[in-house]
Amino acid sequence: TRKKIVAGNWKMNLDYNEGLSLFSEIVNMVKDEITGQQQVVVCPPFIHLHSLVQLAKGTDKVAVGAQNAHQKESGAYTGEVSAKMVKSTGAAYVILGHSERRQYFNEDNQLLSVKAEVALSNGLKPIFCIGETLDEREAEQYFDVIKTQLKEGVFGLSTEQFSQVIIAYEPIWAIGTGKTATAEQAQEIHAFIRNEIADNYNQEVADQTTILYGGSCNPKNAPELFAQLDIDGGLIGGASLKSRDFLDIVKVFN
Ligand code: 13P
Repeated sequence: TRKKIVAGNWKMNLDYNEGLSLFSEIVNMVKDEITGQQQVVVCPPFIHLHSLVQLAKGTDKVAVGAQNAHQKESGAYTGEVSAKMVKSTGAAYVILGHSERRQYFNEDNQLLSVKAEVALSNGLKPIFCIGETLDEREAEQYFDVIKTQLKEGVFGLSTEQFSQVIIAYEPIWAIGTGKTATAEQAQEIHAFIRNEIADNYNQEVADQTTILYGGSCNPKNAPELFAQLDIDGGLIGGASLKSRDFLDIVKVFN
């Protein structure tokens, strides 16, 4: 059976001390309350990475990831952070292609395919985000959009590389809006994604790929979403900033 993951994306929130105290609470609650095999991944801003990895040392149930990494190995790219640097903090994951990166930082599928390759070659597991806008959903183009994001973003990877990738389906109209996809809507896309993976690689790879749902996920709607056959966990924004809410979502897999 494939790995269940609940990942928190803090986005650009929490200063250094606030981040450390939230994460300490999360680690303690995980130790006390988590009885299943689910993996927790917390993705803070870069400045927190190293310290959070240190705080997580007592448990393998909690891992740490970045929210982005640059596509070049190193060089004159003022203000950027490389995959190797992220890895050197002890972080294990990196979110790539979040819709906010695509929208505000002009990241496209071609760039993201390079970022995925570079992240993998530096030993990071990408949490690769895809998802359609409201216009694309209403025009019923969402299957095509998802298919293109997969094809151009990650399907150039070798089978071995792809086996390290986690896919996150985040419909843009559900992010931060309080408007979550219904469990049926999400399941329909997750099944489609798994089918595309089987077509491009093979059924075994598809069956092993963790596919997360993201977009206004909370303790109330998580049980129904995570009960769907092809939904293997969540990528949580707002609710990951509150330890109780986040843990209640993680506990769905207990
Ligand atoms: P919200 O959970 O705040 O809708 O954010 C989802 C998200 O973008 C996670 O990456």
